[in-house]
Amino acid sequence: MDIQALPKISLHDHLDGGLRPQTIIELAQKIGHVLPADNALDLGRWFSEAANSGSLVRYLETFDHTVAVMQTREGLERVAYEAVIDLAAQNVIYAELRWAPEQHISQGLTLDETVEAVQDGLERGMAEVEDRGDFIRTGQLVTAMRHADRAMEIAELAVRHRNSGVVGFDIAGAEKGFLPNLHKAAFDYLADELFPVTVHAGEADGVESIRDAIVSGRALRLGHGVRLVEDIMFSRTEGDTDLVVLGPVAQWVHDRGIALETSPSSNLQTGAFEMLGDTMADHPFDILYDLGFKVTVNTDNRLMSATNLTRELEILVDTFGYSLADLEQFQLNAAEAAFQGLPEREELMDMIENGFAEAR
Ligand SMILES: [Zn+2]
Repeated sequence: MDIQALPKISLHDHLDGGLRPQTIIELAQKIGHVLPADNALDLGRWFSEAANSGSLVRYLETFDHTVAVMQTREGLERVAYEAVIDLAAQNVIYAELRWAPEQHISQGLTLDETVEAVQDGLERGMAEVEDRGDFIRTGQLVTAMRHADRAMEIAELAVRHRNSGVVGFDIAGAEKGFLPNLHKAAFDYLADELFPVTVHAGEADGVESIRDAIVSGRALRLGHGVRLVEDIMFSRTEGDTDLVVLGPVAQWVHDRGIALETSPSSNLQTGAFEMLGDTMADHPFDILYDLGFKVTVNTDNRLMSATNLTRELEILVDTFGYSLADLEQFQLNAAEAAFQGLPEREELMDMIENGFAEAR
């Protein structure tokens, strides 16, 4: 299976988690930011070691460096441009890139200027890909930090740019102790504006967090959502058949077809499914897929997890033995859940079906 050649969709990819090490070095030099390594190879290794360390503190420290070099128009534009080029190299045909503007204003840019700079980079990347005869479409997901108090401001920012590249809203950061309900006014505003929302939920906290993402956040998708498995009861009957009972939150997510933005490597590294075990085989992805949940496959942070979408799919194939038809289903799930209009989503689905048909 040549997974790289297959058309793919990426819904959960942090712009500040996907920089090229060499770019970090060059941008850091310009602003006098000190890095933990001075060449691209060592720096790349430092990022993946921190992500693999099992220490959340070390993992979060990595973002200090990526965010530090994304405080200028030039830094934001370049990182966004390179993200598009790198995604296109994996035959990603549609990507939503998320990032938190409030973390990129320390050098004097306004929130609006940061969104514009990222959009400039995305458009330069898309134009270049189109010029060489390939296809990629992208959209920004504007993120508010859940432990901060700027969600309303960021929601308004997102809506202001809805016709110039921003396709949705997200909250990220410390999940435990910061329920979406804390930002209810922002979510009410977004609902009133009929603006799409995804919420990180079921990664570092359990079922109540997922429930609140849906109730207070009106989330149309769930960032990871892997701990939804805690709302599913498995019991072995006498005939040795697993009896599966969905709790109310799992039932709702299942019946409404709310997409789960799972990210295998990241989920393993952050311990999102540690209650089930500490190897990829313990990831509930396969259980959720088997039960008919709308699973999608994502990278989360390409730099920290030293990964790309091809690799994440390869990991799932190696772990669970998926076929081409399974991989196609994951891409169709993602196309269906994309924050795009129906005609655009249908176009993506056609491209996926054609691309997978060619691979057979
Ligand atoms: Zn994430």
